[in-house]
Formats: sequence, C-alpha cells, structure tokens
Amino acid sequence: MADTKFAKIIAGEIPADKVYEDEHCIAINDINPQAPVHVLVIPKQPIEKLADARPDDQALLGHLMLAAGNIARQLGVDDAFRLIVNNGAGAGQTVFHLHLHIIAGRSFAEGKMVG
Ligand code: 5GP
Repeated sequence: MADTKFAKIIAGEIPADKVYEDEHCIAINDINPQAPVHVLVIPKQPIEKLADARPDDQALLGHLMLAAGNIARQLGVDDAFRLIVNNGAGAGQTVFHLHLHIIAGRSFAEGKMVG
C-alpha cells in the first residue's frame, strides 16, 4: 500500500498532536475536527481499509476497540462518544490507512445512527 500521511505521522516525519500511544497504535487529534473531541486511533501496522483486514488482524482490531474505550475515558467522554470507521472513498475515507474516529462533545440527534 502507498505510504500514507498516517504512516508518516507514525514514523515521526509529519508532526501530530498525539493523545495516546502504545505498542500497536497511536491516537492523534484530528487536524480538521468535526466535534470538540475528534481523535483518530491508528494502528501502527497499516491496513488500507477495514474490509481488507484478515483473520490474522483479529487481535489488532480488538486492541483498537479497547484502546478507543480507554482513550475516551482518558479524555472524559466515555459516557457519550461515537466510534466511526469510513471504509472506502464512497463512504468518505480519504486516508487509506485504517483508523477509528472518536467523536464526542457535541449533541447527537436522538435515535440517529450517524450524522
Ligand atoms: P477519513 O475521511 O479517511 O475517514 O478520515 C481522515 C481524517 O484524517 C480526516 O478527519 C482528516 O481531517 C484527518 N487528517 C488528514 N490529514 C491529517 C493530518 O495530517 N493530521 C491529522 N491530525 N489529521 C489528518
């Protein structure tokens, strides 16, 4: 896969506002936040998009979910946040290195799944 912006951020070649890091992932504040809290959880091992994940990636995917919950708690938004993965350009994916969006701090329309 192409060397994406996120690979460069993980390599330290592009600066980012890091809020969390462990052996398997980093979390950074989104450069163009859509809510008061908008954090991206990014695996260090690149996967282009969620649909490309393989059975071998199961532990990593679980790790990302657990990390997202811990980061939400660390940021004080574990009571109300959304976790979003855009898969493919048609769904709005612009950086082709899997990442989870943690969105919080704004009101979410009651009963709506997205938006
Ligand atoms: P996608 O649309 O692929 O699901 O999400 C990509 C996200 O990455 C967007 O919300 C965009 O604002 C964010 N983003 C793109 N380039 C950079 C960057 O260089 N630094 C940071 N922190 N966020 C970025």
